[in-house]
Amino acid sequence: MPVGGNGEKADPNMPVAVWRERDSLSGEVVDAFVMVLRTSGCRWARGAGCTMCGYRRDTHPGVGPEHLRAQLKCALQRYGGEPIVKIYTSGSFLDPEEIPPDFAREVLSSFASTASRVLVESRPEYIADDALDMLSAFREKVWVAIGLESASDEVLQKCVNKGFTVDVYVEAARKLRSAGIPLKTYVLLKPPFLSEWMAVEDAVRTVEFAVEHSAEVSINPVNVQSGTLVEHLWRRGLYRPPWLWSVVEVLLRTHGKGRVVSYPTGGGKRRGAHNCGRCDGEVLRAIREYSLKGEADVFASLNCGCRERWRAIMEYGRVTLNSDDV
Ligand code: SF4
Ligand SMILES: [Zn+2]
Repeated sequence: MPVGGNGEKADPNMPVAVWRERDSLSGEVVDAFVMVLRTSGCRWARGAGCTMCGYRRDTHPGVGPEHLRAQLKCALQRYGGEPIVKIYTSGSFLDPEEIPPDFAREVLSSFASTASRVLVESRPEYIADDALDMLSAFREKVWVAIGLESASDEVLQKCVNKGFTVDVYVEAARKLRSAGIPLKTYVLLKPPFLSEWMAVEDAVRTVEFAVEHSAEVSINPVNVQSGTLVEHLWRRGLYRPPWLWSVVEVLLRTHGKGRVVSYPTGGGKRRGAHNCGRCDGEVLRAIREYSLKGEADVFASLNCGCRERWRAIMEYGRVTLNSDDV
């Protein structure tokens, strides 16, 4: 549910959005409360930014601690005691320039007494000693999510423009593990400039790499966000979001290797991961069911004529491009 509007007229005293969704907690399907804080935004996005990220529109240059406190108050009024709380910003919760550490502590304290898990997101370079000290006070509850996107430095640099290398992620993961804080890793499915097949191969390899460092891995299929390079390409017919069959493929090929989930944003829509339009609802339901329960047989009965078309596109991407380039 959007709360504070978007763009320059957005109210800095209101969060971008709060909503409820379903998630899994220790094998049980439970409610999760999600709050998106409006902040000054991602430092990396201000300088360069990732090719698929349009979060800049949810930021506000004048947000200060008093605005953040007002946003927290607003969110707490809507919080119903859900056992999972996810706190998103349009950047990094652990960047002290974006979220003052005192306020970060206040946010975690506000939810940690009720929730069983409080998840925050950060780029890996902000997993610094001060942040770890702060998080350690909530060790039993707090999870950190990092968008690794790809385990290939070449994809990170040329396709995502991520601004860090895999080593930086590995070091952050090591620090979190030492501090006893679970890590959730986001894997991007189909950044621009990869064929459908290359994208699937890259995502499978990245999931296999990330599960070694993570309590949970989330496959995030690219959705076309406003004002991004991806949108620029998409408008010119040079980019198509991934097929939902590709999401299924990555989940099936990584089944049993760790906890791997996917909740495709904009799934079934033109800007999100989609199939032919006829089977999207059913495939999305199966992906969601798999993410909540981890049982691969949810995919067994799926079929549609478009699966053959997807297979042909995958094959074309395989034979025309060299996988060593991924
Ligand atoms: S994806 Fe994350 S790191 Fe990249 S620009 Fe967006 S908020 Fe920043
Ligand atoms: Zn179909």
